[in-house]
Amino acid sequence: LDNGFDACGAGQYQDIEELLVGHFGLRRTAYVHSFGCQQNEADAQKLAGLCVKMGFELGPEIDSANLIILNTCAVRESAQNRALGWIGSLKGQKQRNPNTIIAVFGCMSQLSDIAERLRSSYPYVDIIAGAGLMHLLPVLLQKRLREGKTVVDVTKQASITESVIEHNKNPYKAWLPIMKGCDNFCSYCIVPYVRGRESSREKQLVLKDAARYLSGGCKEITLLGQNVNSYGKGLKDGGDFPGLLGELDAMDGDWWLRFMTSHPKDFGKRLVDTIAGSRHICRHIHLPVQSGSDRVLKAMNRGYTTREYLKLIDYARSRIDGVSFSSDVMVGFPGESRKDFEKTLALVSKVGFNAVYMFIYSPRAKTAACKLDDPVTKQEKSAWFRELVSLQQSISEEQNRALVGRRLKVLVEGKSKKREGLVGRTQGDIIVEFCAESDEDLTGQFTDVQIEHAGNASVSGRRIARANT
Ligand code: SF4
Repeated sequence: LDNGFDACGAGQYQDIEELLVGHFGLRRTAYVHSFGCQQNEADAQKLAGLCVKMGFELGPEIDSANLIILNTCAVRESAQNRALGWIGSLKGQKQRNPNTIIAVFGCMSQLSDIAERLRSSYPYVDIIAGAGLMHLLPVLLQKRLREGKTVVDVTKQASITESVIEHNKNPYKAWLPIMKGCDNFCSYCIVPYVRGRESSREKQLVLKDAARYLSGGCKEITLLGQNVNSYGKGLKDGGDFPGLLGELDAMDGDWWLRFMTSHPKDFGKRLVDTIAGSRHICRHIHLPVQSGSDRVLKAMNRGYTTREYLKLIDYARSRIDGVSFSSDVMVGFPGESRKDFEKTLALVSKVGFNAVYMFIYSPRAKTAACKLDDPVTKQEKSAWFRELVSLQQSISEEQNRALVGRRLKVLVEGKSKKREGLVGRTQGDIIVEFCAESDEDLTGQFTDVQIEHAGNASVSGRRIARANT
């Protein structure tokens, strides 16, 4: 099963149409759900695109779907348990409607023990396929319908799906994968084992996708990769990440360019200078630090010290006007002491991130860290975690308060779920809730908002004018 339909270029969709009509009837709906990171979200958009190509309508309701696709995550145990919970809850639906096809894709099913567990304990799952195999959906579905038994493909291939056009229900915002896999082997991380080694997409293909999104009205493109800063390794055209950003930035229009995830060890001065001189790149950098203790960073195999990290932050601040930072921090890495944790608190205070995504260490099989002694109790780790959350909340609130009275450009995301009015984000990734004087649907447009109030998670205000730039 090494080629998707599009990849081998044959017009096989006609073949599968007969099978699909025979199994589901003429009208069929698919439900696609993604767990975990933005890369998974981008993969899920490709899966949704393939569903549309096979004649499925995409529905918001899992209960009435004929084809259910879950794109799973294995980065933390909690994400894995959540996905298994969802899969467990589908048993009843399958019993009520045995024609429902359930497919489980992604990093979790890439793990051989989980694939085996899915096969033996969840026999109603029809398709089990690993990460990077979403382009095979039509082939796997065809095989399942022809042979009538569970199809499993968890071969390791972090392939880049070039020929599949994604389905994006918010086309003003695009996720654009530029690479897959990771070579870093941070000692706690399962990604290199499930997504494979790093490989970059050819620059021309990335540029072509970006041009397609922008001509379709897209206002924000986020470049995705496990370590975008090392983009280009192994490419024949000799491109690198600052070069790619430069070419993307030359594209006209009123739009924002973001990227994630960056690795501090590969984030060089040239990249900072590229951002400083750009028109479209947001002045906001997500730069995961993970720990404020050099001892812990070494045990994590992160490849930088806190001194180097802080030097990079200082350089970026000296070169990029108004730059802000967010980060990822892990609490309770095996062997982390209270003293190490206090160094993390000190670093978080010193940098003044506008947001920190915090996690308690979750042991993952196969990784080097899961073999280390871990004497700190779960209760103690939870208490540290709460301490860090409370520190960051006060920092975020203080930073947000400094925005009161300012007029900010916001990309509107739609109706607010929390209060009456709309919600959007600034280029600094601050959530802005605001009211507008009319009922006009501003989703996907830039507007200006006068900030009047601040909390630790968002700011709020009122729309004052539509921005021209
Ligand atoms: S850089 Fe480290 S944390 Fe990020 S995906 Fe690679 S191994 Fe995992």
